[in-house]
Amino acid sequence: MKNLSRIICLLIILLSSIPANAFVLRVGLKEAVSGITVSATSYFDLIDMHTNQVILTTYGWRTYRIETENGGLAVEGVGTFQGPIILVPMSDAFGKVDNQTYRGKLEISRINGGKILVVNIIDIEQYLYGVLKCEMSDNFPMEALKAQAIIARTFALSNMKKHQDKGYHLCPAVCCQVYKGASAESKPTTTAVDKTCSFVLSYENNLAKTFYHSCCGGKTAPFIWKEHSETPYLQTKSCPFCKHPRNSSYSWTQRISFYEIQKAFSTGEITSVSIKEYDESGRAKTILICHSGGNSIINANKFRTVMGYTRVKSTLFSLHNDDPGVVFNGTGYGHGVGLCQWGARGMAEAGYDFKEILGFYYSGVCLQKIVFEEEK
Ligand SMILES: [Zn+2]
Ligand SMILES: [Zn+2]
Repeated sequence: MKNLSRIICLLIILLSSIPANAFVLRVGLKEAVSGITVSATSYFDLIDMHTNQVILTTYGWRTYRIETENGGLAVEGVGTFQGPIILVPMSDAFGKVDNQTYRGKLEISRINGGKILVVNIIDIEQYLYGVLKCEMSDNFPMEALKAQAIIARTFALSNMKKHQDKGYHLCPAVCCQVYKGASAESKPTTTAVDKTCSFVLSYENNLAKTFYHSCCGGKTAPFIWKEHSETPYLQTKSCPFCKHPRNSSYSWTQRISFYEIQKAFSTGEITSVSIKEYDESGRAKTILICHSGGNSIINANKFRTVMGYTRVKSTLFSLHNDDPGVVFNGTGYGHGVGLCQWGARGMAEAGYDFKEILGFYYSGVCLQKIVFEEEK
């Protein structure tokens, strides 16, 4: 096991696939709202980008309502402007939207339908300060947090085009990564981001697909999304590290009635439910439902999505019929692909460092320092 670090290479080179200026992220905080309230933790300016004029300089304790009006943005007590309006806090201050605090700048603009879009314009490292604790508990060991910081940075940069048609790079929800701004920061997670500043995972000089999940339940899953091919580093493998006394999701039991499954998948009256196929990691691949209208075969991941991720915590389960329902006995929590977070914790507690953790879950990837080009 101590040879794990051999399967990760450490290179300090430029990643050619990264667009220039990508270190400044646009995170869409609010979309299609009719009004917002802005303030800051200290002095701030509001600038109308249409005229490039500072329209207001004020203390943070003052709050201002901004609403759409007559084709523009009406700032309460100040006037109506075409926008976008940028809120720029004083050097060490944070901007606020509806009482949520953010580093960087806030851009408020009108979008189609006369609604407001709020975008947080922020350096990627500062963005990660507001992500890490939302994605991994800050009481996990530092080497696990550092591994998570690197995969969160890589994940953010490789998903930059996800919402480009809407005028921003990333959203603040699970779809991209959960981001709650400055209020979600903590000392250990910020330290983990700082200690791994600019490091990403790559494969063949492209950003790696750094999928991760809470707990694999003993074996990671093969890559399940067909559109991503070229990912030999996302293989199923035994994970002896996530069976941890504090991991309450390692094994779970869930009972679901036939009636509920019948309603969810619009079948006839159900007589039995069984696993039809397994994938190479032993996870259920398809589920066979026998009912009064015939047989239905459902993809196991779809079954999990429809019945609820928190009820069917993974597809690594066995089941038995307990008329009139099904009892699932499972292990793990999440899709199982890539890094197992509880496994990363187990590895860190066993003395492995972040390079060994990443090398174990993404076998064959490189750790690279990303270098961005200056704005021309
Ligand atoms: Zn998103
Ligand atoms: Zn695991």
